[in-house]
Amino acid sequence: MDNNKELKVRCPRCGNRVPWQGNQHRPFCSNHCRLVDLGRWASEEYRIPERKVDPEELDNLIQFPEKH
Ligand SMILES: [Zn+2]
Repeated sequence: MDNNKELKVRCPRCGNRVPWQGNQHRPFCSNHCRLVDLGRWASEEYRIPERKVDPEELDNLIQFPEKH
């Protein structure tokens, strides 16, 4: 029998070994892991990218209201 050659992948989320073939949630082991991973990506996308602010630029912004 060729069952030994069944391809297995590790779930990127929890590390469980799951068969590749017939796995509708691949590369994850389950719908749960897939959703958790998707949620992680979504939340990271929602995070506003932090702009690098120069300390000098910040000083300018703070002092800006002063009228010359
Ligand atoms: Zn998993």
